Amino acid sequence: MRFHQAESAFFVFIFVILAAGLVTLHAFDFMQTAAGDFGPSHDTDIAYLSKLLFAIGVLIATAFFFGVFFIYPLIRRQVKEEAKLRVMTESLSARSETLEQAALTDGLTGMQNRRYFDDALKEYLEEFRRIGKPMGLMILDLDHFKQINDTHGHDIGDEVLKAVARCLMDMTRYHDVVARLGGEEFAVVAPNMDAEQLARFAERIRKAIAGMAVLSGNVRLAVTASVGLAVWNRKETADEFYRRADRHLYEAKRQGRNRISA
Ligand code: GH3
Ligand code: MG
Ligand code: MG
Repeated sequence: MRFHQAESAFFVFIFVILAAGLVTLHAFDFMQTAAGDFGPSHDTDIAYLSKLLFAIGVLIATAFFFGVFFIYPLIRRQVKEEAKLRVMTESLSARSETLEQAALTDGLTGMQNRRYFDDALKEYLEEFRRIGKPMGLMILDLDHFKQINDTHGHDIGDEVLKAVARCLMDMTRYHDVVARLGGEEFAVVAPNMDAEQLARFAERIRKAIAGMAVLSGNVRLAVTASVGLAVWNRKETADEFYRRADRHLYEAKRQGRNRISA
C-alpha cells in the first residue's frame, strides 16, 4: 500500500508526538522515584514539576487522540477524493484522445479522413516551403462507382472502397498522407516527388487498382480510377494546390477515365 505525501507527513507527526509522550512519561517516572533523593526541602518543587509533567503528558495524549481520530480521517478522505479525481481525469483524457482519433479517421476504411488531409497538406506545405523540396499530390476518383452500387448493392460498393483503401496503403510510403476525402474519392500527398516521379507513382497505383480482384459472388468486378496530379509550384496555397489537382482529375474523367492527368 502506498501512502500519500500528506499521510506520510502525518505518520511522522504522530511518531514525534509518541516520542515526546514517552520522554514525558520517563521524566514523570524519574521524578517519582528520585523524589526521596532530594530531601524534604525540595518536596514542593518536585510535586510542582510532577504536576507540570503530568499536564504536558495530558496535552500530548490529547494531541495524539485528536490527530488519530480527527485529523487523520480528514486526510484520508482528501486522499481518496484526490485519487477518484485522478482516475476520472485520466479516463477523460483517454476518451478525448480516442475522440480526436475518431474525428480524423474514416469509419469505413480506417484510413485518414478529409479533415486530417486538409490539416496535413497545410502542415506539409509549410514544412516544404522551408526545406525547398518538391511536393506531389494526387486525387483519385473511382470510375462509374455508382454503377457498382446500383448493380451489386451498397455492401459490395463498400467492399470495393475498402479494397481500394488497402491497395493505396500498400502502395504508398510511410511518410505519404493517404486519405479518403469522401464517397469514392481518395488523395495521396507524396513528399519529395517531382512531376516525373509522381506520374510514375500514380501510374503504378492506377494499374494496381485496375488489377484488383474484388468479387461479387463469383463475378469479378472491374474497378478503375481516374487520377489528377499536381506538383506544388511553391506559390499556391494548400487550397489552390488541391483545386489544381482536382481540375486534372476532371480532365482525366473527360478524356475517358482509367487514366492519369497532370
Ligand atoms: P464518375 O466516373 O464520373 O466518378 O462516376 P461515379 O458513378 O463514380 O460518380 P458519382 O458521383 O455519380 O457517384 C458516386 C457514388 O458513390 C454515389 C454514392 O452512392 C456512392 N458512394 C458514396 N459514398 C459511398 C459509400 O460509403 N459506400 C458506397 N457503397 N457507396 C458510396
Ligand atoms: Mg467516381
Ligand atoms: Mg466522386
